[in-house]
Amino acid sequence: MTVMVPSRTPALITPGRQALDSALHQLHQAAEHLGLDDGLRAMLATPRRSLTVSVPVRREDGRLDVVQGFRVQHNISRGPAKGGIRFHPSTDLDEVTALAMWMTWKCALVGIPYGGAKGGVAVDPATLTTRELERLTRRYVNEILPLIGPEKDIPAPDVGTDEQTMAWIMDTYSVNAGYSVPGVVTGKPMTLGGSLGRAGATSRGVQIAALAALGRSPEGVTVAVQGFGKVGALAAQYLADAGCTVVAVSDATGAVHASGGLDVVALRAWVAESGGVHGYRGADAMERDELVELDVDLLVPAALENVITEENAPRVRARLIVEGANGPTTPEADEILAGNGATVVPDILANAGGVIVSYLEWVQNMQAYSWSAKEVELKLRDLMESAYDEVRTLATDRGLTLRQAAHAIGVGRVADAHRMRGLYP
Ligand code: GLU
Repeated sequence: MTVMVPSRTPALITPGRQALDSALHQLHQAAEHLGLDDGLRAMLATPRRSLTVSVPVRREDGRLDVVQGFRVQHNISRGPAKGGIRFHPSTDLDEVTALAMWMTWKCALVGIPYGGAKGGVAVDPATLTTRELERLTRRYVNEILPLIGPEKDIPAPDVGTDEQTMAWIMDTYSVNAGYSVPGVVTGKPMTLGGSLGRAGATSRGVQIAALAALGRSPEGVTVAVQGFGKVGALAAQYLADAGCTVVAVSDATGAVHASGGLDVVALRAWVAESGGVHGYRGADAMERDELVELDVDLLVPAALENVITEENAPRVRARLIVEGANGPTTPEADEILAGNGATVVPDILANAGGVIVSYLEWVQNMQAYSWSAKEVELKLRDLMESAYDEVRTLATDRGLTLRQAAHAIGVGRVADAHRMRGLYP
């Protein structure tokens, strides 16, 4: 059987379909490079399990709304399925499948013993009260209960979910089990078995990857961050702490720019108070769409998929792009950026800090033990830097982009696991 890579007609396809097309395209390239046979390609191109559920939610005024939820386990050959849960109005099965596939390669690339999964609920959490959000979360978890478990599939935060969501998931699962099961979910609050360093882990990983890729002193390096949210705001902070000059950031409310550098601490305080960067007085307002085209050294897309496309890629001036988000660059944009000599540190490497510290949290939970912040950070740094070095070496040796090299390593490890295990029956 030959795996079909769908034709790409962006105007006609949903963002989720576009993300899945990108993921399949990257897999196809890696499979070509590795010389995988058609059967193995088909295994890797299709999720092992996909569940779509309808989630009824009782609203405060007594109305009943029904929203769609998903959990996809793309691959479980190297260990339990692992990946976040996203609450976003435009999430769909295609998007969740793409994100689950990227989780598989990410875990394999950084050498943690997990397969890949993702969950999603097609809802805008900002439109719900806290109690509605809690009811929605608990009911969604109840619907996907047969799939999850500390040895089966371990959710975590993603876009639109946080520590509180993880606490409700842990509680719902534990009440059903009849005892506390902290290892069923990562990214929990510290009081429920969360890990020191997990909250900032993805951003710390972005900083580590960016500094490794810069290969020079960060002093004077100008940075633009698209998406000043959970990942982007702390990535901006850590990059500024390292000596970079963060000149522009954007979020759903707007974008701000200061050529001499933003005061990231003050901006984060403003966002905590007002809900977004819009209206921040310490910088000039700018068009959100212009941010990715700014004349900066380093661009960090840290929000959603399909942000750098064939349309705007020719105008991207940053020489280094470090992907805090999953899937922010389309394959067409990748080619344009590579042709223009820009380096892209791909998502499955650059944002792996989150799942690395999720793994460390899970290991602590399974041993009923906890590590110091220093121990966690050292392990994170070690795994990130070794993965970066492996990717860089393969890219240089074989004349690949960092994304091609990262996928070749990740896909190759999963393919090896399949070969060694063999097929049952
Ligand atoms: N949602 C994050 C990601 O995309 C973290 C997943 C996890 O910690 O399991 O990598």
